[in-house]
Amino acid sequence: MRQREPQFTGTAVARAAALAVLSFIAASATAPHAGAWTQSFHGLAGANPALLIEVRHRFRHHRRSHSNRAKREEFVQSRRADLESKSSMQGPQPPAGQASKEAAKEPMEKPAGAAPEPMGPPPPPERWTAAEVEAGRMDCVRRLSGLHALFGQLDPIKEGACGTPAPIRLLGFENGREPKLVFSPPPTASCKMAEALGRWAEAVLQPYAKAHLGQPIVQIGTLSSYNCRSRYDDPVQRISQHAYANAVDISEFITAKGEHISVLDHWNESGERSAFLHAIHDGACEIFGTTLGPDASDSHKNHFHLDMKERRRPLCDFTPEQLRAREEAKKRVPAKVPASGSDTPAVPADGTPKPRRQGNTVE
Ligand SMILES: [Zn+2]
Repeated sequence: MRQREPQFTGTAVARAAALAVLSFIAASATAPHAGAWTQSFHGLAGANPALLIEVRHRFRHHRRSHSNRAKREEFVQSRRADLESKSSMQGPQPPAGQASKEAAKEPMEKPAGAAPEPMGPPPPPERWTAAEVEAGRMDCVRRLSGLHALFGQLDPIKEGACGTPAPIRLLGFENGREPKLVFSPPPTASCKMAEALGRWAEAVLQPYAKAHLGQPIVQIGTLSSYNCRSRYDDPVQRISQHAYANAVDISEFITAKGEHISVLDHWNESGERSAFLHAIHDGACEIFGTTLGPDASDSHKNHFHLDMKERRRPLCDFTPEQLRAREEAKKRVPAKVPASGSDTPAVPADGTPKPRRQGNTVE
């Protein structure tokens, strides 16, 4: 009787567990979807260590309580039932081949050097809300009505801190009284910027064109409009109004008779073309938040930078500090002309601080 009763040792229980595993694998292999054994095997392999831990725990308890053979058999049967119920809970197996594809999608181990996986739900995409876009478009209707603007509506722009919810491609203006005025190329602009350009064209550009040139302007040449960048393309500078589609750089004007007037060629010459450029530049200072021309810096020798930055007072080429420095310099210059008769002044004639960067960068 004693020999027939197996010793309830760890080895014996492990053997019982192994039997359960083997019988499960055998059952799975003969199941209707035997090809899906890979997934079942992973579930079973995961359960096996837990089984052995629990077996050891119960074995120690058994030695303390001197449980009888019936209890031991009941335990083994219950573990077998557990494993069988887990197998049945996995539900219908996917067709052969699919399981191996799914396993390939989710490798068991991450490759060495892989970046840590982000935690939590993915961040929302950067975009304007429908309410912001709708409000922007309603603002466009309000600003552009009555300005006879020719434009196309563009998709909202959002690039980090840059962009605007309701940009337009501003083609030009046509009021029926003047020849059509077009931009070349048409700038991407906020409607705030487009509104200011319309007011400037009607109240400043065309009247001065007729006064100085005897004909209206039919084309405005542009260099740059929307551009996600900092001022002067300098990373330590603040973000440019170009990054909000709130700025346009203008380099040239063409009259109805085909005459070209460019900022680079005609700003410093004497004559009507220069007078026209100076007049429309000064008129811009009354409308835009910022107006920069060739006097502001070398960066603007070939264009006017016009933007809609909100300021207490519009900035016209120079900040108040720069204007004070210029006034001071004018007072100092005569006393500092070298006695040798050289015509090179000891300080720059305009006394303005040099811009941070020279060259092709623009505001
Ligand atoms: Zn600019």
